[in-house]
Amino acid sequence: FDQLDGYIWMNGEFVKWADAKVHVLTHGLHYASSVFEGERAYGGEIFKLNEHTERLHESARLLGFTIPYSVETLNRACIDLLARQGFEDAYVRPIAWRGSEMMGVSAQSNRINVAIAIWQWPSYFDPAQKLKGIRLDIAEFRRPDPRTAPSRSKAAGLYMICTLSKHAAEDKGYSDALMLDWRGQVAEATGANVFFVKDGKLHTPTPDCFLDGITRRTVIGLARDRGIEVIERAILPEEMAGFDECFLTGTAAEVTPVSEIGPYKFTVGSVGTALMNDYNNAVRPKQAIAAE
Ligand code: PMP
Repeated sequence: FDQLDGYIWMNGEFVKWADAKVHVLTHGLHYASSVFEGERAYGGEIFKLNEHTERLHESARLLGFTIPYSVETLNRACIDLLARQGFEDAYVRPIAWRGSEMMGVSAQSNRINVAIAIWQWPSYFDPAQKLKGIRLDIAEFRRPDPRTAPSRSKAAGLYMICTLSKHAAEDKGYSDALMLDWRGQVAEATGANVFFVKDGKLHTPTPDCFLDGITRRTVIGLARDRGIEVIERAILPEEMAGFDECFLTGTAAEVTPVSEIGPYKFTVGSVGTALMNDYNNAVRPKQAIAAE
């Protein structure tokens, strides 16, 4: 991945992709003092760019550091980099981390670095699997109590349990894992939020210890536009036996139907499919739809 073509925006400059390097004694690498974003561009426009950049700033604040570039500067850098890379549809990855000036848990005066990379990533899950609904295992690791970690931050450190859980699920032939929270309630997948459908209504866990995804909020809005009731509440794993449909939402995953979570089975039904189509329409810039 470090040998792709094009440029990476790094601390205010466009650097050749292969030259965008950090030192091995980077604090972000040793102590996970790093926060990032995941965005998608459709038809040459980054969907909800400003919300993502604001979340990056907020994630850093929750980890105790300030990003030395304004939201406006970073928005402009993302837009300029997308044009420079020449992609219409692409994935955008901004990241901010503490540098290599001091080594130790304390790194009060380390430089805060920021980089942005953009590449083509058409599908997060296997497209054939996605049509049939993906299969999820139930993870052993749980989302931590918000008193244990800054769970509203999109912090690299919080992804350690996600990678472990996703690998364990993949090793058993599943596409992903559903994570419970520290109380044993349904939380989210390893990189996406989860929704269920029962009697035509949406049920989704209250995001009190995991990311309240930008896609999640978009899909809640789209559902309400259709007159679908959305219920945010605590969901116990046993309740999954009574749900008709299930899908995941996330910038990378978009709206992905789920056919199975451990022992629980779901149909790829009309509500999830309608919202998947609504989302696909919502993310495309209006003039691009008109021109097609
Ligand atoms: N939860 C986790 C753990 C994630 O990594 C993501 C993807 N950023 C989400 C939820 C969904 O967030 P969003 O819709 O903002 O991409």
